[in-house]
Amino acid sequence: MSYIIGSKCIGTKDGACILACPVDCIHEGEESMYIDPETCIDCGACVPECPVDAIFDSEEDAIEAGELEAVKNNYKFFGLKYEE
Ligand code: SF4
Repeated sequence: MSYIIGSKCIGTKDGACILACPVDCIHEGEESMYIDPETCIDCGACVPECPVDAIFDSEEDAIEAGELEAVKNNYKFFGLKYEE
């Protein structure tokens, strides 16, 4: 399981989440921030820092909210494939 940054980050990219992450697993892409699913320790520290509530606490929650593309993009950014 990993926290996931959803589509609300696109056009915002506030970056406070990056400062909050204790394991430096949030990286800045061209359109959005992305969470490395292999490094995230599921601590939740990034969630309250996001001004647009873009961060989901699991892939399942993100998919339920219609954010499957965001899940795939988070994995893809790190050269990984999300297995549905
Ligand atoms: Fe980093 Fe914790 Fe957020 Fe995962 S849940 S991205 S480890 S701050």
